[in-house]
Amino acid sequence: MQPFHYSRPVSLAETIVSGTQKHSRNAEATATFLAGGTTLIDLMKLDVMRPSHVVDLNSSAREFSAIRFDGSTLRLGAFAKMATVADHPDVISHFPVIAQSLSLAASAQLRNMATLGGNLLQRTRCAYFRDPSWAACNKRSPGSGCAAIGGVNRQHAVLGTSKHCIATYHGDFAQALMALDAAIMLIGPDGARSMPFASLHLQPGNTPHLETSLRPGEIITEILVPDGPWTRRSRYVKVRDRQSYEFAVASVAVALALEGSMVTDVRIALGGLATTPWRAVDAEDLLRGRRLNEASATEAARTAFAGAVAQAHNAFKISVGQSAIVRALLETAAMEAHRG
Ligand SMILES: Cc1cc2nc3c(=O)[nH]c(=O)nc-3n(C[C@H](O)[C@H](O)[C@H](O)COP(=O)(O)OP(=O)(O)OC[C@H]3O[C@@H](n4cnc5c(N)ncnc54)[C@H](O)[C@@H]3O)c2cc1C
Ligand code: SF4
Repeated sequence: MQPFHYSRPVSLAETIVSGTQKHSRNAEATATFLAGGTTLIDLMKLDVMRPSHVVDLNSSAREFSAIRFDGSTLRLGAFAKMATVADHPDVISHFPVIAQSLSLAASAQLRNMATLGGNLLQRTRCAYFRDPSWAACNKRSPGSGCAAIGGVNRQHAVLGTSKHCIATYHGDFAQALMALDAAIMLIGPDGARSMPFASLHLQPGNTPHLETSLRPGEIITEILVPDGPWTRRSRYVKVRDRQSYEFAVASVAVALALEGSMVTDVRIALGGLATTPWRAVDAEDLLRGRRLNEASATEAARTAFAGAVAQAHNAFKISVGQSAIVRALLETAAMEAHRG
């Protein structure tokens, strides 16, 4: 780990100044925010992230840790701990897919420490990215190549890849937010703004080192999730190599509105399979207005992977992902979804 300057501002205004000062003085010397530290400190120890200035948000942003549901919108403070949100009664009863995505992530110790904002901004677990002794990694070192293409790529993505990067986005919570059309609130040097959560993560394209659409010095303060006829009948299915404390090989967040067995609305988001949190829009379109059964769910699952590109070791993810979609849809349809 390289030496760095540490500051713990007490006000949000001071945080924003601290977060941008180093950006403007020296483009090489970037300030990085610290929340729970469970991604950042790991990557600093591995010498993958080398910030010259770490701005600890834990005093100044404490106000953004509340969880509130007013009957139409769930507001989650970005500094709420994963465990607190997973255990919140309103989240469990009104937005089960959110509670499940959080409780199936990481370990109890990590969930007690890690924040929602940090979870959304976690970096890929691509082994070549996390080990700087591999020179070729376009995400870590733009223009250097990609060791995973042609290397060991069992964990890598089959959707949203480019010839420059095939790294998977591994978070779980993000798929629930994708499925529920969440928005995020931001604050930064240019003031406050909001954006659809679906716009936060960028596909690798030609620039895998650019991972989000956040502006320099911007902080995520809140996550807004609208209530809808599909939110209570929602579910998160996670398939992994072992049953706990493991990232997804494939995961599916489903939210469903039904009249009898007829699909009036459906939202499907995929994890462990794509370079960003991924919405399976074509599969949703295929199901709307149709009866949900094993045949239509299977057809939708095939549609979701129409554009998939497999590498040498990860073609199995396509069939695992398809089975996970069918299972998630049928299990969600079987849920009781009481209003109120
Ligand atoms: C062994 C292990 C297993 C794991 N398994 C899973 C899993 O199964 N599923 C899963 O989803 N996750 C998993 N994780 C990832 C874990 O959930 C994340 O490390 C954690 O959520 C990050 O939150 P944090 O508050 O600690 O973030 P930090 O480490 O403090 O920050 C992460 C990044 O986000 C930035 N940041 C943090 N908060 C904000 C904010 N509000 N605004 C702007 N930038 C911000 C930081 O600058 C940093 O770049 C695992 C982690 C480990 C170590
Ligand atoms: S997949 Fe992406 S993160 Fe992994 S080595 Fe290739 S460029 Fe780097």
